[in-house]
Amino acid sequence: MIISMRMHATRDEVDRVRARIEEFGYKVHSIEGEERVVIGVVGVGDVTACLESLEAMPCVEKAVRISAPYKFVSREFRPAKTEITVRDVTFGGTDFIVMAGPCSVEGERQILESAEIVARSGAKLLRGGAFKPRTSPYDFQGLEEEGLKLLAKARRETGLGIITEVMSDRDVDLVAEYADIMQIGARNMQNFALLKTLGRCGRPVLLKRGMSSTVKELLMSAEYIVAHGNSQVMLCERGIRTFETVTRNTCDLAVVAALNELTHLPVILDPSHATGKRSLVPALARAAVAIGADGLLVEVHPNPEKAMSDGAQSLDPQQFARMMEDMQPYIALWKGARVAEMAAAL
Ligand code: PEP
Ligand code: MN
Repeated sequence: MIISMRMHATRDEVDRVRARIEEFGYKVHSIEGEERVVIGVVGVGDVTACLESLEAMPCVEKAVRISAPYKFVSREFRPAKTEITVRDVTFGGTDFIVMAGPCSVEGERQILESAEIVARSGAKLLRGGAFKPRTSPYDFQGLEEEGLKLLAKARRETGLGIITEVMSDRDVDLVAEYADIMQIGARNMQNFALLKTLGRCGRPVLLKRGMSSTVKELLMSAEYIVAHGNSQVMLCERGIRTFETVTRNTCDLAVVAALNELTHLPVILDPSHATGKRSLVPALARAAVAIGADGLLVEVHPNPEKAMSDGAQSLDPQQFARMMEDMQPYIALWKGARVAEMAAAL
């Protein structure tokens, strides 16, 4: 932290501020100018409480935090990217991983067919919501445990790992029984009770960015999960809410590159919720590869016109196959760059 005293603060005032900082357990280094004293604060302590206390002192003009408020998830804490292995797939390594499937699990035939379709085109995990966060209480809410059982059946039949959403801390144990990756939806990014419970769920977590959340808030939410005992966390950009209406959300693509600087956690892009339109999904998926994401979460439905949720943004089987094929040259370049990056980090 850096504390800037008001102009011409008295010696007594400076000493009181120094004493206050030391009460919080920090070390103090002051720089005394002609007109103003600036105090550098280093060490470990309760930063927020200390800042708030100093800001309340009339002789302090400004108190600012310099280091990031998150620690475990920062690149400084761990320079090498975290690798997360789910069944025989590793995120954050030298493979670009595609997770695909319908928005919701709708029934046995639909999910088994979806699993076969996405596996055939090269997806490594099957997505599908059994607990659905819907804006309207009258919309399809998901098949819940029955949906989880169907996902498990699809896994048995195809060998694909399962990623599915958990909406409440009450359901964490139940979902963890079936899921290979626990998906936390945009609407729950700051459900702190849920984040704390995920700390002990024993499964990797995919944390989606809230639609009105900053990158710092996303990283702080990831920090919750890690601080509560689970370091297997991946982040997902899925578009944020802006004034733009041509797309369902506005994909904050640059954030993928920013996250790769700020954190060691793998970063996934969801081009389906980011656009809301299936025609835009393949282009955004290629962009995700080019900008250095670790993988994709894509909605694919055997018959999008009949989907019970998010049909307009779901690719049909042919479109998904084509997209996967068209991405191959980009993925080859991605792999070369990733291998070089990992070798340079050794
Ligand atoms: C989903 O993946 O179907 C979903 C509900 O996503 P989000 O939480 O990003 O809206
Ligand atoms: Mn969806």
